[in-house]
Amino acid sequence: MAKSSLLCLSSSVQYIKGIGPKRALYFKKIGVETVEDLLFLVAHRYLDYSKVLKIKDLKINDEASIIGQIIKVEQRRTRGKQILIQVALHDGTGTIVIKWFNRPDLKNRFKPGNWLFVSGQITFFYGKQLVNPIYELIDEEEKSNKLSGTILPIYPLTTGLKLWDVRRAVRIALDNCLDEIKETLPNSIIEKNRLMRLTDAVRNLHIPSSIEDAYNARRRLVYDEFFFFELTLAKRRAMIKKEPGIAFKGDANLAEKFIQQLPFELTRGQKEIIKKIKLDMSLPTPMNRLLQGDVGSGKTVVAVYAMLIAVEAGYQAALMAPTEILIEQHFLGLSPILKKIGVQTVLLTSSIKGPQRKKNIEKIKDGTARVIFGTHALIEGEIVFENLGIVVVDEQHRFGVMQRAALVNKGINPDFLVLSATPIPRTLALTLYGDLDVSLLKEKPPRRGEVITKIIRENEKQDTFRFISEELNQGRQAFVICPIIEKSEKLDLKSVKEIKEEISTAFPHFRTEIIHGRLKSNERLHIMEEFRQGKINVLVATTVVEVGVDIPNATVMLIEHPERFGLAQLHQLRGRIGRSTRRAYCFLLLNRYVSNETFQRIKFFEKNSDGFALAQQDMKIRGPGEILGKRQHGLPDIKIGNLNRDQDLLFQARDDAFALIEKDPELELPEHYPVRRRLKKLIRDVDLLRIG
Ligand code: ADP
Ligand code: MG
Repeated sequence: MAKSSLLCLSSSVQYIKGIGPKRALYFKKIGVETVEDLLFLVAHRYLDYSKVLKIKDLKINDEASIIGQIIKVEQRRTRGKQILIQVALHDGTGTIVIKWFNRPDLKNRFKPGNWLFVSGQITFFYGKQLVNPIYELIDEEEKSNKLSGTILPIYPLTTGLKLWDVRRAVRIALDNCLDEIKETLPNSIIEKNRLMRLTDAVRNLHIPSSIEDAYNARRRLVYDEFFFFELTLAKRRAMIKKEPGIAFKGDANLAEKFIQQLPFELTRGQKEIIKKIKLDMSLPTPMNRLLQGDVGSGKTVVAVYAMLIAVEAGYQAALMAPTEILIEQHFLGLSPILKKIGVQTVLLTSSIKGPQRKKNIEKIKDGTARVIFGTHALIEGEIVFENLGIVVVDEQHRFGVMQRAALVNKGINPDFLVLSATPIPRTLALTLYGDLDVSLLKEKPPRRGEVITKIIRENEKQDTFRFISEELNQGRQAFVICPIIEKSEKLDLKSVKEIKEEISTAFPHFRTEIIHGRLKSNERLHIMEEFRQGKINVLVATTVVEVGVDIPNATVMLIEHPERFGLAQLHQLRGRIGRSTRRAYCFLLLNRYVSNETFQRIKFFEKNSDGFALAQQDMKIRGPGEILGKRQHGLPDIKIGNLNRDQDLLFQARDDAFALIEKDPELELPEHYPVRRRLKKLIRDVDLLRIG
């Protein structure tokens, strides 16, 4: 192909011959805007043409690939009422039957005359057949074009974009711009990890000579992603360590006074972490610590302890939570105790408006308020602190790095503590939060009543109600959880209101109220307060109570439509009960007609109370994206790598990145020049590196 000198890595793909502005829009949909994006486009899988066999040579049990022309497409119903799509495929040497079960969509995709590639295991049923093989329709153009080699990448596509368009464009991009790609890693790292060189990797991504080469090409790109992600963390960490922070003086008398107000002893785990935090805070570098602990492990008191060290030293402390209801609960629960020991508090959320808001903002500014509770409302521009010494963020996975940075920047290098109940394995936590010191609160407070979890069906509901009413008679309280506020036409789910009706009828002698995110803040506060005081017996709630709500007297939870929730979320919900020494009960009202998969998931939850086991299962089912979530803002993206499958590579990249920054924090050595250039490109806004 002729080399067109106009094309370079940063060119828009529309300048590639045959694309143009209209097709460029389709490319944009698959995340490709420039020639460089195109070169780094990763195929989801590869078809191995090298194993293509002739139909006449096929043997039963062979793993084989076939290319043939479709003669006939039929749709039938099996006796088991499944939909069966049956295709007769002919390749000049013979004909074979290909079957797909429950794929009615295929009926219209396959037309007689189309060329089809299939790959799978040959079985026997009145003749040779292939059942549910992987398949790919082949363009006429492509069949006659031998350009593709024997291993064919299958790229992500979108309507309007054909595989062939992508392949041809990739080929032009390779011919014109591959030389322009510069190595991003030092030789030492490439050799140590037996990585492909970057240009080789890019070539092999698109025209590999074996599946193994394609695998190694992807491995190199995944390593790059992880390495630069970790490098940003390592750099950030090195920078934090250098910055002067506040060395808080004092004997933590105030914090000890607070502890004395509590009706319990601290656990050993809490004491250990407090000791670490005390040390961190006494040092002249800013503390940056992640406190990880399962639901109900008692992270809050540890956080308050840290905040009071700062308050005693004359600074303000801020506690930020992701939902209004959570911060309101913290405020309600902690303010009275803090007042008792002479510490003034204030609450700021977006629901607090008008004169009250003005007053609260003033108290933050003039320093009257020493401990400030708030949602992300705290990061707004008009909020100024007198002297912010420590920032605590609760349930951090819901905040982005940018939001936390915005709050941290309201002080002068304040200390920083994040509380998270996301139970990810420690090694992974260390890796994803590499800029933070990670502490784990393992043991739960003692004498916790166990929680008994049970799946129930509609016909067991009356028995369950009877059981709940016995608990209520003994003065206990109950949550009823419901996934939606209002009835929608699309989803056949019970609304909060319907459930409230039902519960009120079932328990006429008890008071039932509703709580959800659309209530006004003061209504919500009022209801939670009455529930806390025991004036409300049953609370029908949406997931607004998912995190942080702490009502030890509530011993029963009934979850309607549990199939609507993820495992981690169910775990959070269930964490609202079992907070006293009494035994607690969680009922999952499951519809009889859920899929087997759903049933297994809910069953897993019924049998497991360990947050880590549940999180790991959740990651298996839904992938770890959820956990990484917004965390990634301000960090290089992880798009290709998979935190489950590529975990070893992640750990390796982490070690390499941290070692490199240790040796050469400013990336000044000549051999690190490629790394520096790449990092600069990734993080255009240097300020990002200053995020605590
Ligand atoms: P989480 O880690 O989920 O935020 P909390 O801090 O809300 O947990 O604590 C859960 C419950 O355990 C609260 O009612 C809290 O008062 C109580 N608690 C905390 N520490 C202890 C302890 N050492 N002994 C007994 N109860 C405790
Ligand atoms: Mg909490």
